[in-house]
Amino acid sequence: MNDCIFCKIANKEIPSLIVYEDTKTMAFLDISPINKGHVLVIPKKHFVNLLDVDKEYLNAVMQTSQKVTKAVKEAVNADGLNVSINNFKEAGQAVFHLHVHIIPRFKNDGLKTWERSKEKNWDDNEVVKEIKSKL
Ligand code: AMP
Ligand code: ZN
Repeated sequence: MNDCIFCKIANKEIPSLIVYEDTKTMAFLDISPINKGHVLVIPKKHFVNLLDVDKEYLNAVMQTSQKVTKAVKEAVNADGLNVSINNFKEAGQAVFHLHVHIIPRFKNDGLKTWERSKEKNWDDNEVVKEIKSKL
């Protein structure tokens, strides 16, 4: 993927503040952090998102994510951490190369978490059936 910014970071064609790398993954500081210590973990091979990645790289990315999450927690003395992946534009994905956000959270940091749906205008039993039929 020629014009993928995270491929360029993986190939070191553009600089980033790398905190960890191995043969399959890299972790670097987010250029526009939500909090101090906000890190992104990527596979060094191009995949669009969680739905696209193969098992080998998924395993590698998740292992690196856990390792780096532990390190970030200690490094910035975080009280908690949000670890998340945005998949597709409508879910906030802006860079279409799989990345895991590791976002340190601090007591009273003022950041909101998810708001729950107030009106449930669907049948959860139907939802369970539909999801199971796709597995
Ligand atoms: P997302 O909205 O989940 O696609 O997140 C993309 C993230 O990539 C954002 O948090 C950006 O701040 C971050 N980002 C974009 N370009 C760079 C870059 N060159 N180096 C580090 N982080 C970047
Ligand atoms: Zn890429």
